[in-house]
Amino acid sequence: KQDTFETINPSTEKSLASYTYMTDSEVESKIEQAQEAFLDWRFESFEKRGEVIQAIGKALQDHKSELVSLMTDEMGKLLSQSEQEVDTCTAICDYCATHAATELQDETRELTLGGKGIITHSPIGIIYGIQPWNYPSYQVIRYTIANLMAGNSVLLKHASNVTGTAKKLETIFKSAGLPEGLFTVLVIGHDQSDAIIKNRLVRGVTLTGSPKAGEIIGQKAASALKKSVLELGSNDAYLVLEDADIKLAVEQSVKGRIYNNGETCIAAKRFIVVESVYDTFKEGFVKAMSDLKLGDPKDKNTDLGPMARKDLRETLHEQLTESVNKGATVLCGGKPDSGTGYFYPATVLENVKPGQPAYDDELFGPIASLIKAKDGEDAMRIANDSRFGLGGGIFSKDVDKATELAKKHFDTGMVFINSFGLADPKMPFGGVKDSGFGREHGGFGMKEFVNIKSVMIS
Ligand code: NDP
Repeated sequence: KQDTFETINPSTEKSLASYTYMTDSEVESKIEQAQEAFLDWRFESFEKRGEVIQAIGKALQDHKSELVSLMTDEMGKLLSQSEQEVDTCTAICDYCATHAATELQDETRELTLGGKGIITHSPIGIIYGIQPWNYPSYQVIRYTIANLMAGNSVLLKHASNVTGTAKKLETIFKSAGLPEGLFTVLVIGHDQSDAIIKNRLVRGVTLTGSPKAGEIIGQKAASALKKSVLELGSNDAYLVLEDADIKLAVEQSVKGRIYNNGETCIAAKRFIVVESVYDTFKEGFVKAMSDLKLGDPKDKNTDLGPMARKDLRETLHEQLTESVNKGATVLCGGKPDSGTGYFYPATVLENVKPGQPAYDDELFGPIASLIKAKDGEDAMRIANDSRFGLGGGIFSKDVDKATELAKKHFDTGMVFINSFGLADPKMPFGGVKDSGFGREHGGFGMKEFVNIKSVMIS
């Protein structure tokens, strides 16, 4: 492979920066540093760890404008959404710093044959994270902060196209007083990842990304007998039931589909609408999607920025073309923008059926699939007829009924009622089926990579 690579601004197609891959021996010495740092950090109190993490939350705010601009340059998200992302990162720091002591506190039990049992959560060492470009700061913060609070140290292999953000975060962490070696960015290619997973000092692997990367990394971790957390893609379904507030459903569905330029794992992707309200929903939805302004993500009037990379736009368009060849119909959009930048217009498909990529796979861009259902039960059946199971939504004025449906019938890790979904640091985040396993946030993320140790005193 080449020694260097470039990052490209997806709005202008201009080069942003060039980076040199680290050598294998550089990577090895970084791992040793991470281990040394862990050996001290593991014995720090939650109070001390929390102070550093709160300082990171504050430093993110102090450096917000540089970070926001860099993220938008590297992957094209709207500036306002980059700002929101940094605020979420600070909220994660605050949540983890405040709750780690309670989440990870010792538990005691009376032993069956007499005596006292203590359950303690010990840190396990270096956690290796492979992260995607779609939320360049948030994806890093959510596993890093949880693991630092748990007493582990962290390595990051970020998506190549957001290497600038990765390095910026490293500088911000340092400026906040995080000891050297606890968070390390590795600028490496895929081939260098294997040795890291195999390295005996690395004790856990966490990946957010495509199902394909999940299969590869999950297998590599398993064959090195290491635990992994996989947060993969999905084709989330939003149900629009007969008693839905259609105006609200349209407004939230549009936001849910195009937020982050349509590049979100828990974005609403399939809209399953009950027959009796289908035409009304379709009319409002197609109009609102057609009215969206595509353009410069730094312009306040823009609704939809570019896709993050040229190849991602090409894949998306191939998926659309194959879906259309297999019977789907384009109601608006449907063609890549011909100008400079990797722009793709908000697109709506109908007649989406099994066998088409729009039904079976994840369309990671601003394309929505409309599917007609006979009734609520049929809508739920179609929603669950997917190999994925990350999130989903229900629009209904009967919140009790929707809650029951969400709790008992939706085969996903998250369900959002009467709004589109975004992560909440207080609530567990993760999926079932091909969307992966393990959880981030809500205390659960802090417990993924700890040694749940039993100490029994007779
Ligand atoms: P990938 O899964 O290829 O990339 C995610 C991360 O994994 C990147 O850091 C990437 O590195 C790394 N990676 C991929 N394969 C390997 C490997 N064999 N060894 C080591 N590291 C690896 O996603 P893409 O960027 O290609 O996006 C494509 C698709 O992924 C989207 O269409 C979408 O379906 C899905 N996706 C889902 C996300 C989610 O949040 N669930 C987020 C992003 C993407 P590098 O950048 O160097 O290739």
